[in-house]
Amino acid sequence: MSSFDVVVIGSGPGGYVAAIRCAQLGMKTALIEKYNTLGGTCLNVGCIPSKALLDSSHHYEDAVKHFEEHGIEVPGEVKVNLEKMIARKQSVVDQTTSGIDYLMKKNEITVFHGMGSFVDSTHVKVDLTEGGEETLEAKNIIVATGSKPSTLPFITIDKERIITSTEALKMPEIPKHLVIIGGGVIGLELGQVYRRLGADVSVIEYMDRIIPTMDRAQSKELTKVMKKQGVKFHVSHQVTSVERNGDEVTIKANNKKGEEVSFTGDYCLVSVGRRPYTDGLAADKAGIQIDERGRIEVNEHLQTNVSNIYAIGDVVKGAMLAHKAEEEGVFVAETIAGQQPHINYNLIPGVVYTWPEVASVGKTEDQLKEAGVDYKVGQFGMRALGRSRASGDIDGFVKILADAATDEVLGVHMVGARVADLISEAVTAMEFRASAEDIARMSHAHPTYAEAVKEAALDATDKRPLHI
Ligand code: FAD
Ligand code: NAD
Repeated sequence: MSSFDVVVIGSGPGGYVAAIRCAQLGMKTALIEKYNTLGGTCLNVGCIPSKALLDSSHHYEDAVKHFEEHGIEVPGEVKVNLEKMIARKQSVVDQTTSGIDYLMKKNEITVFHGMGSFVDSTHVKVDLTEGGEETLEAKNIIVATGSKPSTLPFITIDKERIITSTEALKMPEIPKHLVIIGGGVIGLELGQVYRRLGADVSVIEYMDRIIPTMDRAQSKELTKVMKKQGVKFHVSHQVTSVERNGDEVTIKANNKKGEEVSFTGDYCLVSVGRRPYTDGLAADKAGIQIDERGRIEVNEHLQTNVSNIYAIGDVVKGAMLAHKAEEEGVFVAETIAGQQPHINYNLIPGVVYTWPEVASVGKTEDQLKEAGVDYKVGQFGMRALGRSRASGDIDGFVKILADAATDEVLGVHMVGARVADLISEAVTAMEFRASAEDIARMSHAHPTYAEAVKEAALDATDKRPLHI
């Protein structure tokens, strides 16, 4: 039987990063993955393929709608070759997952492909993909088994017409009418992809606004921009049934007034969140506690109730984000090595990769109101920037919330071009507990989108933006 200091179950951004950090710290490490490729949801059917399709569809939209205004003439009609677009996406995924194979070899991590399940608290059995089984002995075990799409009790996902994000990343055709249940991150990112490619897109959302966990101003701005792009939104709608009839799907919902409304499309994307995944893990054999929402219970050290077993990423509480899973992977590896690492969960940024992008860190206005914090607001619209006019990306804003008494930055919320990258400035500033004036007094290169951060900080400090 092979013995390891650490066995990691699951090779997503949580698991493979934990394995690398364990190996860096001198621990003999094994990684178990049930699929043939490493990288988990994020690399195979999540972050990377969705961004590849967002980028490809953005190029297409630019060619169709914006090239002309830039003085670029395309002889003949610009056409989409969906098969090629999806093949390119797959090659991006393949390059990225093979990069993880390289990292495992480089760090001398032993990889087992097959389903991992607990035998007891120090042994994990692998049902090897290539046939046979192997039992590994481990001083420490990190569970990083991630999540799967969740659905509603009355919906049957047939993976053909009633689909999840996994199928939406490899569509056989451009939908005529894509009906999306759930106006969260997946619904909006993939909805925008197919809208750009020519589909009619209707989003049905249970809450009174899309991206309901983000700042209200962001929901409002993104709704306005995506409506202009032709996406139809139906908020405050409770879906009651989803039925397939041949190549058609009919979705019934109750609107705010309690009236039944009906939507018919050729595809229905169900994107109402994801559920923690522990199927087949036999967590009970190790005595690991799972909570009522299916998440593995952990303490502040991400340790389960069994002291040598840890859990990280989507399978535990908190935001289901790749970079949160990565931070937790490093945190657990360093904890096992006897260090005292730290994660500031308040400063894990959230991003929606639509165009304009949406990015946030820290508290929203609603959260500050609820906590009774006295705050001030600074805001600056992207359209006033020279950089925005040069590129033509004039939608959006940067909004900074700062403590009314101390001027400390408490939350930063952005919509606009490249704000997924801009949010890092806010994270850095807030890690160092910067005041709005600290940001306002730093030089920001001209012309950049980042100037909106400086201007919003000037506005928050004492209402003295320079360019409005
Ligand atoms: P996962 O990535 O889910 O990996 C878990 C791995 O464990 C899987 O490979 C699974 O096969 C394996 N596994 C499970 N059980 C076993 C077992 N018993 N034995 C062996 N292997 C097992 N997040 C972002 O931060 N940015 C984004 O842009 C983004 N875009 C997304 C787009 C989509 C369409 C989706 C679906 C998700 C997106 N996410 C994004 C979320 C992100 O993918 C997840 O938060 C992240 O992958 C979680 O990492 P993880 O390591 O916890 O789990
Ligand atoms: P989500 O939680 O972002 O959005 C789900 C949406 O569905 C919410 O707005 C919710 O109010 C709505 N909803 C729930 N039940 C409903 C119902 N019965 N009828 C209508 N609407 C309903 O979840 P998601 O978009 O499925 O994404 C899953 C996870 O993947 C998220 O946790 C997200 O963090 C992660 N993800 C992240 C990114 C990114 O970081 N850019 C991209 C995609 C996915």
